[in-house]
Order: sequence, then structure tokens, then C-alpha cells
Amino acid sequence: MTHWLERGWNALWECLGPRTCAACAEDLDDQAASGQLCRDCLALCEPCPRDVTGLPPDAPRCLSGFVYEGALATAMQRLKWQGRDDLARPLGQLLSPLLAEVAQTCDWLVPVPLHPQRLRLRGYNQATLLAREARRACPSAQALRLQPGLLTTTRAMAPAHQLGRQARFQRVESQFSVPRRMNEKVAGSRIVLVDDVITTGATVTACATALKTAGAVEITALSLLRVIKA
Ligand SMILES: [Zn+2]
Repeated sequence: MTHWLERGWNALWECLGPRTCAACAEDLDDQAASGQLCRDCLALCEPCPRDVTGLPPDAPRCLSGFVYEGALATAMQRLKWQGRDDLARPLGQLLSPLLAEVAQTCDWLVPVPLHPQRLRLRGYNQATLLAREARRACPSAQALRLQPGLLTTTRAMAPAHQLGRQARFQRVESQFSVPRRMNEKVAGSRIVLVDDVITTGATVTACATALKTAGAVEITALSLLRVIKA
């Protein structure tokens, strides 16, 4: 199915179908909002440790909510690859406690941009949806403005999961930039970057480099999920 048809179907199913867990498809009880995870799946989600190593030396401070595995990995794949943008709200809500930690010391909330070609195919940038929903669920972030236009990406590329570690770093070098008209906003600002998953840290590092080049003074990267090598 083309993505708009698939999304239309998902929206209709959302209204008329039974309300099921985003990961295991078990029926949810009446208390749970549609698209949420069931209690069993939520109980199995592993919070991400704070002391994960292996980031690039020039990486920004990175905070992630959960380890990339199990129910949340499944739900994230559905959000990204199966047109399930209804999952952005419950997943964004899970990111909001991290946003609360940094919201009051930052100026702009900036999602990692998606290449325009992929954005056209998918119909949305999952990082933008997650940032918006995390902000909506976080009372202390209401003064923090969502600014997806502060960063752009231009180069076409293969999906990261098809590339090795070295290739990932080369792939994201100079992939991101701050549009000239946004320089004034970025200069001297403190920025919260939002991505769905941090794997090697190459993407958020490339974004942070572009923002620093444009004069940002402090960057914190938040992701809902973090890939941790066993
Ligand atoms: Zn479940």
C-alpha cells in the first residue's frame, strides 16, 4: 500500500478497531490510551543507564530513556517504517521525563532532520513528532520552542542500519547545516536535540557540530532509545 493509504487505514483502524498494545498487539484495558503499550510490555522496558560509553569524543551530552530492545524497539519500528504516526504520542510521553530535566536551561527544541526524500516517502519526521509530544506532556517545557527549521539535511544516503560503524561516520559528515537565515537564532543559544534512537552517536554529533559552528553554546541530545552493544 502507498503510505497515505496505509496511514488512512491505520487512522480508521484506530477509531473503529480494538485498542491494542503498540508492541505485542494484546488488547488494552479501558484506562490505556489508544496506541499505548500494555503493562506487561512496559514492565519489560529497560531504562537506559546514564554511563553508557562509546560515543564520539566530540559528541554532545546524550541522554536516552530506554535501551533499544523488545517492545519499545518494535513500537519505534512501527512508527518509522509502518506509517504508525499514532504511536508518536505514547512514545513522546515516555521521552518527556528526560525533557523535563533539561527544558528550563535550554532555548530551542530541535529534532534531528530527515532527508527531504525520506520525509516525502514517510510523510512525517518521527523525531519532530516525538519532540512535539514530549513537549506537550512536559509542563516545564512549555516555554521551550520547537524549531525544526534550525537544522537541515541535504545529502541523500543509505539507511544507517545498512552501514557499518565507519561508514556511518562518513555518511553523516557535513550532512547537516544551519540555514543562513537561522544563524541569528542559533548564535549564543542552548539547544535540546531530539532523535528517536541513538546508535553510534554519529548523527547527533554531526548535528551538534553544525549547531556549534553556527554559534550554539550548549547542546544536549535526547533520544527515546539507545542501542547498547552487549
Ligand atoms: Zn504489549
